[in-house]
Amino acid sequence: MYTTEESWTQHNVDNPGRKRAVTGITCPVPGCNAFVIGHYAKYRRHWLAKHERFVSKYFCPQCRAAYKRKDDLRTHVTKHAGLILDLDDVECQFLENKEFLDPDPITLETAMDYKT
Ligand SMILES: [Zn+2]
Ligand SMILES: [Zn+2]
Repeated sequence: MYTTEESWTQHNVDNPGRKRAVTGITCPVPGCNAFVIGHYAKYRRHWLAKHERFVSKYFCPQCRAAYKRKDDLRTHVTKHAGLILDLDDVECQFLENKEFLDPDPITLETAMDYKT
């Protein structure tokens, strides 16, 4: 486990081909090994895209356009003049994630230990 910023940096240095200057997370999921540049939010997005069996989709109440993120839906509905969106009352469905890569036994929490 990498519990300090220093050991996290060290972890990157120990990986061949990883430059010290690049801050990011090597995904610890077997078979993935994606190098996610950036911090927690970016990695979380990677995790949601690849390592959650189901992905949530939010639907526009007017035209049924589907978005993975509420923020994207919020941006979308500004195109509908006069439509006021209650983000707490948006229709949400869980759909099977076609890109799913089983992270077992790693969880998002243990994966994040690599960074923090
Ligand atoms: Zn991954
Ligand atoms: Zn719409």
